[in-house]
Parts: sequence; structure tokens; C-alpha cells
Amino acid sequence: MRNGKQPYDTFSFLRNYGFLPNYAFPSDTTLLTMFNQDKSKYYDNWRSSVIAIREFAPHNQVYFLGNKYNINRAMVKSEGGELNIDNIYICENCNEILIDSASSNSTSLIKCPNCDAEIKLSSFKSSLRFPQMFSTSGPRITCDEENRQIKGYEITINYKHKKSKIVNYEIICDQNQIARISYEHNGNIYMVNKGSRIKSKTTNEIELHSFNFCSACGQWLRDNEATTHIEVCPKGGSERHLQKDFWLFIDGNHDVVVFDFPLIGDFDPTSYYTTLKEAIIQSIMLTYNLEESEISSFLNPVPGKNEQSIVIFETEEGGTGVLKSLLNTSLDRFDKFIENLFRILHVKSLEPYEETMDACITACYN
Ligand SMILES: [Zn+2]
Ligand SMILES: [Zn+2]
Ligand SMILES: [Zn+2]
Repeated sequence: MRNGKQPYDTFSFLRNYGFLPNYAFPSDTTLLTMFNQDKSKYYDNWRSSVIAIREFAPHNQVYFLGNKYNINRAMVKSEGGELNIDNIYICENCNEILIDSASSNSTSLIKCPNCDAEIKLSSFKSSLRFPQMFSTSGPRITCDEENRQIKGYEITINYKHKKSKIVNYEIICDQNQIARISYEHNGNIYMVNKGSRIKSKTTNEIELHSFNFCSACGQWLRDNEATTHIEVCPKGGSERHLQKDFWLFIDGNHDVVVFDFPLIGDFDPTSYYTTLKEAIIQSIMLTYNLEESEISSFLNPVPGKNEQSIVIFETEEGGTGVLKSLLNTSLDRFDKFIENLFRILHVKSLEPYEETMDACITACYN
């Protein structure tokens, strides 16, 4: 409790203490505290971390009750000025993520554990777990011009495979394996915000600017501010308080299913797998009566092939049972899922094969 002046917000309270179903895991939510201009009042704004990693990111602006709040500070634990920094490596070949922290040492690895590609030690990047953020309403103190140039953030989703925990399935047709599906309970999903995408004033190209922070005063600093901050830091911060050029991340344990289908026909792989991924998502939602926010997905490259892996995960941590039941062969859910998948793709019957002609044009592109 700070001063007890903020409006009592039951919803925030319940979410904070995990009474609301979507927020059952406190690690799953992130807090943005929003101060009015003279700091006499504040509001606590909780969001699911999956959304906060973009919306509560440094230098972003949040609109609330008609006011504009600039996200300018954070509360980060530090020991004598040093932040608890982890190092993250993302494999260029397969998108596998490696993390080097106090509890898991990855810099001793020579090869990517997922695809065997060589690891470049220089590509490990300083990264900080997404902290509690602060914002202040009112016009921004630094030049607004710079803000207008922000074209969003570069955010990636990465799956850290734990091979010993993955259960593999094959889809076999006329004795030929035509697809592979894998399932991992509580798989490690990371979201990484690599920085703001800013349009260069001189070249007009989009440049990626990762984050800078002063642990003495708790301020987020733009690249030009970081170089001169020591002279103006309100808390007299020194060089050891400055953390420059790092990423922000969140991680969670989610049930994950990966679909590996071959590329059939002469299609652009990204369009092909994006369409298939969306059809799979729609079919899972239909089969289990889910909302769009309950399930998420992305594509991973398949090294050495023109193919992509479709990664589907439950957004809630800890496993809701949906993906587990989908692959439970003693249930009929998978059959139902395939049936729905064909329906979504406008297939009328399989034997003899019949499609609803022009259905996609009339149903999906209007
Ligand atoms: Zn790899
Ligand atoms: Zn400072
Ligand atoms: Zn269609």
C-alpha cells in the first residue's frame, strides 16, 4: 500500500491475488502503475504478460480515462546497482531459444540442442525479465517527434523444446508417414521484446533499438539519453547503474502441440503454413468451444527444408487439458478435430472427394 488514495479497484485486487480464472498464475500478469502529472494519484493496471510485453513496453503510451500516460520507469531489483541480467540466444536456423542464467548455463553449448547448428557465443544477448512498469500522464519531456517515429516493437515467440518430455505421434496413410505431431505438457514458451522499431530520420529505414535503463533512478533511456544520463541522473547514478542495449522477455509453462506437415504442391511456404495454422486453430476452437484468447500459435522454420512447423499452445499456464485431450487416442476428439478441419476448408465429403465449389471465395473473403 502506498498512500491509499487510489480508487479501490476490486477487479485489480482479485486479479492480483489470483481469484479470477484467467489470472490464476501471478507470474502470468504484469503491473503498470499510472501516476497523474503531479503524482498525487495513481492507478494500478494489470494485464496478462503476453499483452503487457508489447503494451507496457518502455517508451510506449497508454490511454486511460482520457489521459495519455508515458511509460518511462520501472521497478527492477538490483544488487548494488547491478541488474539480474540473463543472456538469451535465439537460433537463426530453427528459432530455438537458449537462456544462460544463474540456474541454467547455456554458454558452454557448442551446438543448438534442437537443430545442431553451431552456436555463436557473441550472439547471446543481455536480457531482463519484464519488470513492473511505471508511467506518468502528461506531455512527454523528451521530444515528441522521436516518439512519432516508433513503429511498434519487434517481438518474437520461441519454444524451448525439452526433448525428454515430448511425446511424438505419427499420421500414417497407406503405410507412409505423412505427418508428425508432438505434445509437451508444460513446455517452455518465451516471448522476447527485442526493442522499438524506429524510422531513421536520415535514411528512412526502420532500425531496431533495444532497451537502456538506469537502475539508480529507474528510468528507461533512449539511445541518445543513455550516453549523457550520468551527468543528469536525479539519483546520482554512475556507470555501473547503466544497463545498455538489452532485450526484455517473459516465459511461461504452457501445453504445446507441434504439427509437422509436408509442403504439398507448388505453394509459397509461408502462405501455405499460415493458412493451415489458421485452419487448425479454428478447428481446435470449434472442437473445444474455446475463445480466440485461449489458444495461440506461431510458425517455426524447419532447418534444411522448405517447410515450417506449426506450433500451437494454450495461453493459460499449467495446462487446461485441451491439447492433452486432443491427442488422447482413446477419445474421439482428434477425429472430431479433423472433421471440423475439413468443414473449415470447405470439404463436403472425402469419399468421393467433393469440395463446396467457390465456398472459400464467398465465405472467407467477404
Ligand atoms: Zn537451432
Ligand atoms: Zn538515473
Ligand atoms: Zn475458405
